[in-house]
Amino acid sequence: MVKKVVIVGAGASGLLFAHYLLHRGDKYQVEIYELRDDPQVLPFSKSRTFPIALNHRGISALTRIEGLETALKACSVKVKGTVVHEARGSQRVVRRKKPLTVLNRKDLTVVLLEQLIRKFDNSRLKIHFNCQCTEVDFANKQAKFQEKDKLFNVDYDLLVGADGVNSIVREQILSTDESFTCKQTIYHNQYKSIFLPSPDAAYKSKFQVGEFHIWRIDDGTTIMLLYQPDETLTGVIYFPSHENQIANLTSTQEVIQFFTETFPIVAPLMPKEEAEAFLLRPISSIKTIRCNRYHYGDSILIIGDAAHAVSPSLGQGCNAALEDVAILDNLLDEYSDNIALVLEQFSVRRRDDAYAVAEMSEVGFPSSKKLMIQFLLRERFQKILHKIFPQRYKPSMMDMLGETTIPYAEIFNSNKAWISSVKKANKQLMVNSD
Ligand SMILES: Cc1cc2nc3c(=O)[nH]c(=O)nc-3n(C[C@H](O)[C@H](O)[C@H](O)COP(=O)(O)OP(=O)(O)OC[C@H]3O[C@@H](n4cnc5c(N)ncnc54)[C@H](O)[C@@H]3O)c2cc1C
Repeated sequence: MVKKVVIVGAGASGLLFAHYLLHRGDKYQVEIYELRDDPQVLPFSKSRTFPIALNHRGISALTRIEGLETALKACSVKVKGTVVHEARGSQRVVRRKKPLTVLNRKDLTVVLLEQLIRKFDNSRLKIHFNCQCTEVDFANKQAKFQEKDKLFNVDYDLLVGADGVNSIVREQILSTDESFTCKQTIYHNQYKSIFLPSPDAAYKSKFQVGEFHIWRIDDGTTIMLLYQPDETLTGVIYFPSHENQIANLTSTQEVIQFFTETFPIVAPLMPKEEAEAFLLRPISSIKTIRCNRYHYGDSILIIGDAAHAVSPSLGQGCNAALEDVAILDNLLDEYSDNIALVLEQFSVRRRDDAYAVAEMSEVGFPSSKKLMIQFLLRERFQKILHKIFPQRYKPSMMDMLGETTIPYAEIFNSNKAWISSVKKANKQLMVNSD
């Protein structure tokens, strides 16, 4: 019998899961409901986008779908390393063995959407934008949606909550099932995106294409910028939520003054229009999510950020979300599309890894200057040891995360002592809500 799968959320994980299900022949019919407008028609400036770095975990899940590799190439850049710009003007370069593929969140969803629409017609795939899931009736297998003033119900055999960090599907499981637990932690940094025009030749000769460029000041405020395929610069500024300088900016003039005083190398690249837009852009908070499982019975599943959001400090959230989909596809093969078993096994197999990546993401970049220096020295030392004695010493934590597909739980276990010491130091900065 054909199964009707309703996916809530047209982000990376929901769209990739639709690809995988529809590639399994005629067994599945997919309907996707997305809260926001179609990103294919939405102006870039309104798309709440930021750069996403994909490593082997995410890329291998994407490129198992025919056509995605070529489509992604056209809108992404390869990043071979990170240049940390020191206050006195010197640069520290951290090279990667395997380049990252970096693209804007909006471009990733547009590529996934375009390919879905090209490959599958209306008889198997329906996509609805501007529809918000508001409630789920578990007993009758019906999801409720709101489109402007209209409320309507949709029947499902399987409901997939791919609806991000503030997932309504997860909230509905939480209010229905007493044995389901979800711990939410507010990360100590907030962020805003930055979009800068293509700089002149003199700047480009100083700051290479194909690298992340990072500037960091003592309170932890950090700018990360990257050239796009059209050589404009896109990035993010992260800043501590307490004593928040960015929240106190009230005019374009104050924005310009803040960048001039704090990041004098970046400031000349920011035109007045971007300073104005920066001021109006909302400040976004970051949450990590730890659930004790990712399914309810044989008809509800949560994936990606809905199941296990992490802080962006290690660049793993989207990679883990895409990895979820590849794992689900393997389970569908292993259990011959028996959904009840697949959901159960997904929770069993993914939980330790999801907890581990959440823990690591909270300490990815230590908050104090002293710990940051220790972190960088530790990384360097581990790299040297691994290079000389590869059989005896594992790669550094960052190399294992970004350049291998070693399960997150294994990486966590080999770096446990370090993680717990940073965690202790960061503890005062986090807020928990169970
Ligand atoms: C600043 C920043 C930088 C990052 N950098 C990286 C990086 O370099 N590498 C990396 O791997 N990860 C990165 N991440 C994490 C990454 O963005 C997420 O992990 C990833 O987007 C998760 O994908 P998702 O599909 O699970 O959720 P999302 O991308 O959040 O998609 C969820 C979708 O569901 C929709 N939705 C929500 N509620 C409803 C509802 N009630 N009804 C209908 N639709 C709904 C939303 O509109 C959205 O389109 C970064 C995150 C941030 C904030």
